Amino acid sequence: PDSFPASRRLFERARKVMPGGNTRTTVFLDPFPIYAVRGEGCRVWDADGQVFYDCINNFTSMIHGYGQPEQVAEVAAQLPLGTAFGAPTESEIELAELLTGRLPAMDQIRFANSGTEGVMMAIKAARAFTGRPKIVKIEGAYHGSYDFAEVSLDSAPGNWGDMPVSTAYARGTPAGVLADVIVVPFNDTEALRAVFSREGDTIAGVLIDPMPNRAGLIPARRDYLEEMTRIAHDAGALVIFDEVISFRLSHAGAQGLWGIRPDLTALGKIIGGGFPVGAVAGRAEVMAVFDPTSGKPALPHGGTFTANPVTMRAGLAAMRALTPAAFAHLDELGDMLRDGINAALARLALPGRCVGLGSLFRVHFTAQPITDYRSVWPGPVEKRRLGAFHRGLLDRGVLSASYGLFALSTPMTRGDAAEILSAIEDTLGEIARQG
Ligand code: PMP
Repeated sequence: PDSFPASRRLFERARKVMPGGNTRTTVFLDPFPIYAVRGEGCRVWDADGQVFYDCINNFTSMIHGYGQPEQVAEVAAQLPLGTAFGAPTESEIELAELLTGRLPAMDQIRFANSGTEGVMMAIKAARAFTGRPKIVKIEGAYHGSYDFAEVSLDSAPGNWGDMPVSTAYARGTPAGVLADVIVVPFNDTEALRAVFSREGDTIAGVLIDPMPNRAGLIPARRDYLEEMTRIAHDAGALVIFDEVISFRLSHAGAQGLWGIRPDLTALGKIIGGGFPVGAVAGRAEVMAVFDPTSGKPALPHGGTFTANPVTMRAGLAAMRALTPAAFAHLDELGDMLRDGINAALARLALPGRCVGLGSLFRVHFTAQPITDYRSVWPGPVEKRRLGAFHRGLLDRGVLSASYGLFALSTPMTRGDAAEILSAIEDTLGEIARQG
């Protein structure tokens, strides 16, 4: 830790004015986090003047890294004109046109300021549309901090029966919240069918991230998603995709990649070009719950900074630069790293597997077949190895998420990816030697 004296000093200062020195649980690191000072392309400099390859990219949102000229130009042009108005702007129409153009099943969209809000609005829209209270969600999947979306986020082994028990993530969660969230195991069609046959007429929708990061970054099977759509629709319930992260998988998001047509989609992260953003998109019939033109809508929704033109302009620049060629580049780098890491694990006889798709991957230090959240639940050895992996990469100039997530960015070259892979191979070698 003493290789980061300036970050340590900043953390000591932060502790006095923020609980645990922290204002965002996800960036907490024991004993203290590395404080960022600036970024350029795929690199970030910290308070101690050290440079890192950034494989977190603000938890997947900075898909073009830092200082991308088109985004900078759009934002610089908007700043002197005004950053937020109590009136709509043309920019929101442009971004709405672009996004609905990329997602064939999504006719309309509505913006917000975070992915949490995007998911919250999607859940509330499903309830408003169906007039039903319950949602179904996947065990271990993260969807932001709306109470209902948080249920069973860190469901521990004691709660894993045939059917998961709905557990509170935060202390003090009302029992009513748990009662209105049904948790199901991932990629398990029969469990979903059982839930719907038992209480289908109370279910507003199924919330699913097609490659849930915190639940292991394991892709959903297409047949599972197809059956999910059929089962939900037969019961009059909706399918809600959380594409806050997975929209970075292809030009048409995960739904394009899997060929599924959800009823609603929550978006966030990359669509704001580095600024706070969220959105809910959906079929016109469902999105009508927000429509205020004939009096109070079924679902009113505001937001002081919603669709502010800085976010909208930055988002437009980011999205326009995300061409099919940009996705092909990200896919190539992702494949190179996944293949390289799996080859290294095999060579070192270190139990583990690198999973993910496109620009996203995670390393799990388990010898078990990787199928779902439960299969990657880390025991003491896996926890120690994950910690050593994160720390070893930090020492070799690579930033990753503490739980093993990596997100690549478009300014990375094949040369950069080779250097990242070499740092990962060195770190894995060290872990193998330590046993
Ligand atoms: N859904 C998913 C899948 C996410 O990964 C996140 C954030 N990491 C959210 C929702 C919430 O987004 P935000 O942090 O912008 O509220």
